[in-house]
Amino acid sequence: MDGAALLAGGSLWAATAAPGPECPSLEGELAVDVAIVGGGFTGLSTALHLAERGVRAAVVEAREIGEGASGLNGGQVIPGLKRGREELAARFGGERAERMVALGDGAGERVYEIVRRYGIECGLERNGWFRGAHSPMAMAYLEKTAKEMAARGVDAVLVSRDETVRMLGTDQYLGGLHDRRAGAIQPLAYVRGLARAAIGQGAQVFARSPVESLAQAAGKWRVATDRGSLVAGQVMLATGAYTDRLWPGLARTFVGVQSAQMATAPLSANLRASVLPCRAVVSDTRKLSNYFRIDAAGRLVMGGRGPLGDTPSPSTLAAIARAAERRFPMLGRIEWKHAWCGRIDMTLDELPRIHRPAPGLWTVLGYNGRGVALATTMGAVMADKMTDGGDPALDFPDTPFATVPFHGLRGPGIAGAIAWYKFRDALGFAA
Ligand SMILES: Cc1cc2nc3c(=O)[nH]c(=O)nc-3n(C[C@H](O)[C@H](O)[C@H](O)COP(=O)(O)OP(=O)(O)OC[C@H]3O[C@@H](n4cnc5c(N)ncnc54)[C@H](O)[C@@H]3O)c2cc1C
Repeated sequence: MDGAALLAGGSLWAATAAPGPECPSLEGELAVDVAIVGGGFTGLSTALHLAERGVRAAVVEAREIGEGASGLNGGQVIPGLKRGREELAARFGGERAERMVALGDGAGERVYEIVRRYGIECGLERNGWFRGAHSPMAMAYLEKTAKEMAARGVDAVLVSRDETVRMLGTDQYLGGLHDRRAGAIQPLAYVRGLARAAIGQGAQVFARSPVESLAQAAGKWRVATDRGSLVAGQVMLATGAYTDRLWPGLARTFVGVQSAQMATAPLSANLRASVLPCRAVVSDTRKLSNYFRIDAAGRLVMGGRGPLGDTPSPSTLAAIARAAERRFPMLGRIEWKHAWCGRIDMTLDELPRIHRPAPGLWTVLGYNGRGVALATTMGAVMADKMTDGGDPALDFPDTPFATVPFHGLRGPGIAGAIAWYKFRDALGFAA
């Protein structure tokens, strides 16, 4: 299929998810306790957790529910923060670091629990996350990581090269780490299910309602669209990589990059037995990693990084196709059916960020391409913060804005960073 037809195939998830709940657009004035801008995992999970506590919460989404990164991603449910205990302890203190690591470790379980509790049909499978080593140096890094994980009781094992070939059906890795806590979902079905669950608990969810202004008067916030407004004691911006100019400077606290994916038609039973037979979700130790999985109907879904922009370029799609053909030559010349992309919010320290830029105003973003489990978890964290719940298990620090240096030059900056990461990957460093 040529590039144009492929793009017309659009997102696999949009083509296969059941419809979400009916969400009206915001009209007139509505008073709530908490107004949430952004209808992705972060915003909807926060609304759900607030509503479960009896708090009146409303979500306002500019487009349809899940049309940001939450309905476009790879659906890889990967627990854990990208920074280890030592680094977190140096920044936030030992005790807090312990709690942050535990929060990250439990992030996948939180998704599974919500899916179970609310009966969300999103094709959840729990076959783990396989991280393939692309060099001897990267394998040594995974060995060290495996020991650290074992020391804190994480269900993850180091896998030999031969076993890797058996599990994945490709000889492209020197071995790997299988984190058996991880899983896979249909992300658009999951985010729509989160919306339904939040509504069921009493939250209100509005779609097709871009928020145009935020203003504070008499101790209340007014969150206004062109046809309506929410008046609230607290506001949370959950706008992720799609953050606009609503709050000055927020868009400069991260770098937005593109991630693109392609999907085949369902593979034959024969091919399914040889292409990724263990059905784990997979990425590797490169900084510019390709990631892939098999979906519930047996399609191969393969992703990779692209430049900026909201449509994948022909060269990005060609690179993803080459990556798939290299890993799975038995597929021959692969016929792709779907192609789509979304934006990722990258922070300098690769940690999610909670900010409190004004009294009663919160912002949360920066999952660095790992937000399925973490954004869901941040919803519980934020609900706890906004209700002064003080649950130590939900402790995550809020920090001042940290602006990305030379943010205005991010186009050339990203191109430079990509060249640098390619060089590091080629030398064998682990991300
Ligand atoms: C292609 C791709 C693949 C990925 N793969 C994975 C993966 O496999 N595993 C993983 O863990 N993570 C993955 N991620 C990352 C993950 O999808 C994100 O971290 C997560 O979805 C972020 O959720 P969010 O709710 O914070 O943001 P989003 O889902 O982006 O939601 C933000 C919402 O805010 C809305 N908005 C913005 N401005 C306004 C406004 N002014 N008024 C109203 N609404 C507004 C937007 O329309 C958008 O819907 C991937 C991301 C992409 C793009």
